[in-house]
Amino acid sequence: MATRKLLLLPGDGIGPEAMNEVRKLIAYMNEDLQAGFELEEGLVGGSAYDVHGQSISEADMQKALGADAVLFGAVGGPKWDDVPYEVRPEAGLLRLRKDLQLFANLRPAICYPALASASSLKQELVEGLDILIVRELTGGVYFGEPKEIIDLGNGQKRGIDTQIYDTYEIERISGVAFELARTRGNRVTSMEKRNVMKSGVLWNDVVTATHAASYQDVQLDHMLADAGGMQLVRQPKQFDVIVTDNLFGDMLSDVAAMLTGSLGMLPSASLGAPDDVTGTRKALYEPVHGSAPDIAGKGIANPIAMMASFAMCLRYSFNMVAEADRLESAIAAVLDSGIRTVDIAGESITPVGTTQMGDAVLNQFKALSN
Ligand code: NAD
Repeated sequence: MATRKLLLLPGDGIGPEAMNEVRKLIAYMNEDLQAGFELEEGLVGGSAYDVHGQSISEADMQKALGADAVLFGAVGGPKWDDVPYEVRPEAGLLRLRKDLQLFANLRPAICYPALASASSLKQELVEGLDILIVRELTGGVYFGEPKEIIDLGNGQKRGIDTQIYDTYEIERISGVAFELARTRGNRVTSMEKRNVMKSGVLWNDVVTATHAASYQDVQLDHMLADAGGMQLVRQPKQFDVIVTDNLFGDMLSDVAAMLTGSLGMLPSASLGAPDDVTGTRKALYEPVHGSAPDIAGKGIANPIAMMASFAMCLRYSFNMVAEADRLESAIAAVLDSGIRTVDIAGESITPVGTTQMGDAVLNQFKALSN
């Protein structure tokens, strides 16, 4: 039986509540499908601060480095608003991204037919939407130096951020996008601002060269990022995979997220470079939502974003494509049957709690697996 090392970092707020529903899936897969998941647990965020005085301990960082994949819940909450900046809950997530060198952030925007009416766009524009935004996560203007506010001495200050990309960074993120496109609709749209930014000119050149060298079977289009934002709300189904930098990816993926309805539905994956020997990538999977302190402890959080993040983990870290497909189908079937948590219930449906939603998906997944 294969051994698959998985580290669970539930975190704070609704993170542990949502993670419990994934635990049930894992237990079933180990017992009935011989999946061979070997689980470790750790603390991150405020819950790690309370125990270790750090947002993630060295021991848990070592577990993350040794795992095949990390499943992350959410961090943060008012309880930790006043802790020192360097040990604030979010620092644990940033440390994980940095030390695991997770340079590729994958955010699917899937609109389940049953939820199409909840989108802020017209139903026919979003029904059946299935796009994937691949965002560069470790470079660009969020990290470039100099990054400072300087006093000009004349009553004025100057804020400086620096957008920097090197060839290798653009090559590796576009390579991820092309490879993923091959497993989907085989189309990539690269977005930058080459009309006004030198880093955009280089981005365009390198993506074009990477495509010509290794991925000519994939269709490549280029679009200015502002036009891309407009097209995302005008006609989102025209896209398959979008690849873009850290800043534009941050904004465009939030725009795409809103096409699909609720924050409680959205999974994400962050991937590192393939290991030279094994070919496997370091990876962290997490819902897009935060710790939702306003509903934490009430048992009403939607666990679907966390469960769909686990589906991404099955697909991208363990190549368990059939199981990932079945889990995503189970989620769609549960939504089709009208079962809803409070965030997606609307006016006319009585919502179920976290556990009932998790059980409904698990039972459907079992039915599809038999
Ligand atoms: P949030 O995503 O936690 O919540 C926003 C709103 O969406 C809230 O009303 C919440 O109740 C609702 N919501 C979110 N997830 C839901 C779910 N699964 N089911 C039902 N409703 C859901 O964002 P926020 O309120 O801005 O931030 C709360 C805390 O989370 C802050 O401390 C913030 O720093 C942190 N945060 C953490 C992450 C992360 O861990 N990756 C991401 C974003 C925010």
